Amino acid sequence: MSDLTLVLLAAGNSSRFKVPVKKQWLRIGHDPLWLYVTYRIKKALPDVNIILCAHADEIPFMRAMCDFTIVAGGNTRQQSLKNALIEVKTPYVMVTDVARACINSDLINRLIESKTLADTIVPTLDVHDTVVYANTTIERDQVKRIQTPQLSKTEVLRLALDTDIEFTDESSAVVAYGGTRHFIMGDPHAAKLTMSSDVGSLECLNPPSNITFTGNGFDVHPFEEGKPMVLGGVAIESPLGFKAHSDGDVAIHALIDALLGAACLGDIGMLFPDTDDNFKDIDSKELLKQCVNKLHQFGFVILHADITIIAQAPKIAPYKDLMRRTLSTLLHLPPARVNVKATTTEHLGFIGRKEGVGVIATASVHYFDWKNG
Ligand code: MG
Repeated sequence: MSDLTLVLLAAGNSSRFKVPVKKQWLRIGHDPLWLYVTYRIKKALPDVNIILCAHADEIPFMRAMCDFTIVAGGNTRQQSLKNALIEVKTPYVMVTDVARACINSDLINRLIESKTLADTIVPTLDVHDTVVYANTTIERDQVKRIQTPQLSKTEVLRLALDTDIEFTDESSAVVAYGGTRHFIMGDPHAAKLTMSSDVGSLECLNPPSNITFTGNGFDVHPFEEGKPMVLGGVAIESPLGFKAHSDGDVAIHALIDALLGAACLGDIGMLFPDTDDNFKDIDSKELLKQCVNKLHQFGFVILHADITIIAQAPKIAPYKDLMRRTLSTLLHLPPARVNVKATTTEHLGFIGRKEGVGVIATASVHYFDWKNG
C-alpha cells in the first residue's frame, strides 16, 4: 500500500460559479468533475489511498458512484481538510481541489520525488506581469502563484491546521506553524476552474454526454373531507382534499419521483421525509421547486414531463391547461414540453369507487452542457 493519501476537496458551494450546476457535478462525459479529477490522479498513482471531502447531502449519491472513503466537509476549506485528515493513515498527504481539474502526471511525479525535501512541497508559477502592491511596484521575481496539489507530511499538517487562523492553502499554515516549504515548478495547464467563463480554457475536459435519461413516478392519495384540494399545483373545486403529510398534491409527488428517477437521485421520501415536521402541510409546489433546484445542482437540465391523472372524481379536464402552465413555470420549461392527461378507471377499483386519485408521471433530463452554455 502507498505511503500517500490523496485528499480531494469537493465540498464547495460554487458561490463564484454562476451556472445552476455545482462545479463538482459538471459532467465530463458521464463522470461528475469530482470523479473525473480523482480518476485522473489515480491513473498517475494507482496505489494511492483516496479520501473525498464532500457536502453531506451529496455523499449518498457519491457513494453510489465510487468506493472511495468520503467524509463530510465543513464550513470552510480548512475545516473540510481537517475533517479529512482525521481519516488519513499514511505519513504523507496530497491535498487538491476539485477545481484543479487538469492536473497531469508529470506534476504529481515531481511532487512525490521531492517529498523528503521539506514539510510541504508546493507547485508554483512565476508571474510575468508587473505586480503592484498597495501602490508600490514590487519585484515580480519574488512573487509566486501557488497551486495545488500540495504534498505534506501528515503529522505536521495536522498540527499546523490546529488553529483558528484561516489559511488559503496548506503551505501557508505549515510555514506559520514553523514548518518548512519547498517550491517546485507548477503546471500552467493545471488552471483552477473558478468562474463559469473558465470552463472553455480547460482543454483536458471533454463535453458532457448528450444522452437523454427518463424516469417514472407513481403516487396515490385517498380523499379526506374538509381539506382544500390541490392537484398539479392548481386549486380544484371539490368538497374533498387529499389525506397526506403535505398538501397532498399527488400529481406533483408523482412528477417529483419521475424527475428524481431520471437523474438517479433517489425518491421523494429520501428528499422530503414525512417524519420531518418542516414538510407538514407544505405546498407541494415548494417541494417541486426544491427538487428542480437539486437536479440543476447535480448537473441536469429538465427536458420534458408527462403526467397522467387517474381519477373517477373530480373532473380534471377543466384544469388541465392551467396545470400544464403552472408546472411548466416550476420546471423552467415552455408549456409545449409539459403534458397533462386525465383518465378514469371506468369505475373499477378504489379510484373507480371515488376513494382517491392515482397519478403516473414520466420525465426526461440530460446533462447541463457547460461547454455550450
Ligand atoms: Mg404522495
